[in-house]
Amino acid sequence: MTGKREWLRKAIGVAFVYPLIPTGIGLTLCAGIVFSIATGVIVGNWDEERRQIEIKHRTEQLADALQERLNRDFEALQTISQFQGLSQQGNEQSFGELAAYIRARHRSIETLIWVAGDRLPKQQTVLEIVAFADDPTKVALARARETGELTVTERIQLPRGVRVLGLMPAHAAPSSVSFSTNLQNLTAIGDLAKWELRGFVLGILSVADLVKASVSGVELGEIDFCLYDESASMGNRFLAFYESKTRQVKTDSVNSSCPSETLDTNVRYLNAGDRQWSVLLLPSPEYPQKQSSGLAWLPLLSGLLWTSIPVTTLAVSLNRTYQREKLVQKLSLANSNLSEANAEIIGLNYMSDLLQACLTVEEACTVVPPMIQSFFPQTSGGIFALSDSKNLVESVVTWGEPFSSELVFDPDRCLALRCGQPYFVGNSSTGLRCGHLRSETAEYIDIPMAAQGEILGVLHLSSSVPGRLTEGKQRLANIVARQIAVAFANLKLRESLKNQSIRDPLTGLFNRRYMEESLEREVRRAERNRQPIGIIMLDVDHFKRFNDSFGHQAGDVLLRELAELLQACIRVSDIACRYGGEEFTLILPEAPLSVTRERAEKLRKGAKALKLEHRQQFLGQISLSLGVAIFPQNGVTGSSLLQAADAALYQAKKQGRDRTVVAS
Ligand code: GH3
Ligand code: MG
Ligand code: MG
Repeated sequence: MTGKREWLRKAIGVAFVYPLIPTGIGLTLCAGIVFSIATGVIVGNWDEERRQIEIKHRTEQLADALQERLNRDFEALQTISQFQGLSQQGNEQSFGELAAYIRARHRSIETLIWVAGDRLPKQQTVLEIVAFADDPTKVALARARETGELTVTERIQLPRGVRVLGLMPAHAAPSSVSFSTNLQNLTAIGDLAKWELRGFVLGILSVADLVKASVSGVELGEIDFCLYDESASMGNRFLAFYESKTRQVKTDSVNSSCPSETLDTNVRYLNAGDRQWSVLLLPSPEYPQKQSSGLAWLPLLSGLLWTSIPVTTLAVSLNRTYQREKLVQKLSLANSNLSEANAEIIGLNYMSDLLQACLTVEEACTVVPPMIQSFFPQTSGGIFALSDSKNLVESVVTWGEPFSSELVFDPDRCLALRCGQPYFVGNSSTGLRCGHLRSETAEYIDIPMAAQGEILGVLHLSSSVPGRLTEGKQRLANIVARQIAVAFANLKLRESLKNQSIRDPLTGLFNRRYMEESLEREVRRAERNRQPIGIIMLDVDHFKRFNDSFGHQAGDVLLRELAELLQACIRVSDIACRYGGEEFTLILPEAPLSVTRERAEKLRKGAKALKLEHRQQFLGQISLSLGVAIFPQNGVTGSSLLQAADAALYQAKKQGRDRTVVAS
């Protein structure tokens, strides 16, 4: 139940949750960025508004300071003018003292002049003004005389800077004096005849000093400003430019950064006597950065920070999931490798059991191929045996297609046998290939099969597709080869021991004990199958005499030759045995009397035809006496059949030898 729930949880995770994690990360990141940027923009705008308010505030402050300074300067001019008007012809000395007092408190008033009679004061500035005065200045003078009020001129560009003239009529001019006649020395530089300065108090204001005096109490920071005369003609509007960085005032419009138009919200208007001035604030390019509170970054950074937390968490979780999946994959791979190794061990054990159960090499050869094919799927191969003479390698069994090796070859053509160790050639190997390979193969391995210090043959495996004979498979092939070698060695040993126990060493025929056992078995089988058995018992005539004539060794030669004749005259399934001395017995399963008698006759004639030689000596002709008995006519047990055959043989001897007698 728990396993099922776990499986369901995994399935939901793989199908829905895992694919959503990257999407979730993306969406969270996008939402976080959008939110942060939007908040940053809103706070940025708010910060900008705050800066604009700041600029407005400073503009107001500056305008107030300038206005106050102008008012004070012009009030001083009006005061001194009224004072002089009251004294009429005036007292030049008292004016000078008053003017000095005012100038000490009003730094922007460069000069104060009172023209009382027809004498024009000698001050340099006055002479310059007279020299540079133009039509608008004359218009201002006329307007002042007409209105009797304070009148201010447009800017007057002097070599020392820009000045404006404050004109205030103090009293009526003395009519008897001709201004022009007293200024004859100046007529060359201008038409001054029309000038009527008499009765005026003149205040000459330095625009630069006025600006400097005004900004001293205002905190401008990085903000520059321009001063304009709005009442002036188009070319004369510019008055001054204040650069906050250098704290310098420039009255030359060419060197200033002031625009000719003042269509700006940062403009404030000032009353300069009967004129209107304006002040325009110009924040420097660095001002926004310096004044920026940096608040806009706060929501942006904090938004990104807060976004990064879930994004990081999700990313870490995704990474963990990924790492876990990788671990699971690794584990499952290790598990499958372990299972494979386990299956191989079980298979090896099974093959070992099967090999131990086999009684002969031939039987083992039927067991081995399916096992090897299950160990090495999609490969072909074979087991090759090294002949007893060690000069030939011959295939015992093969499996799989395409089979890549010759079936019989010289041992020298196999590099594994030559080196006495496994020899592998892979797809990428550039090494030599064995000479016994008859077709191209992607990879192959030859492993010598050795047991008890003796090389018995070679195990050959090949694949037409590279990568199947991995290192693990090669190790397995070594184990398989060793197992087969040991099993084959044991089987061969067993066969040889068995042969020793059931065969006669001189002739190689079965011995009497084996024959008697076999006969009992054949009798039972014949009973079941209702088949006959033919028994032939034969004895060499006068063998004693033969031994005596040619020697015991020659007698042995005769016995071996006779054994070969017997083997040649019977079927593979028949049993030939040496019954004792020069007596032999043949068991012919399924042979009726006619066949058995015929076979006995064939043997008798064959023995007579033998040409026996020993040590280049002709041994003469021999003859056989044979007794024939048939199952079930002459006996239904092995011993009764042998007795019957022996009795028939005795009869043959008795009847003169060299003949076949059938038991009666
Ligand atoms: P017959 O059978 O014709 O009556 O005469 P025989 O001479 O063959 O008589 P018998 O069967 O008694 O002789 C047996 C002889 O066979 C005695 C023995 O010297 C000889 N003999 C028995 N076994 C061997 C053997 O392994 N090698 C040799 N060379 N002779 C053997
Ligand atoms: Mg005998
Ligand atoms: Mg004999």
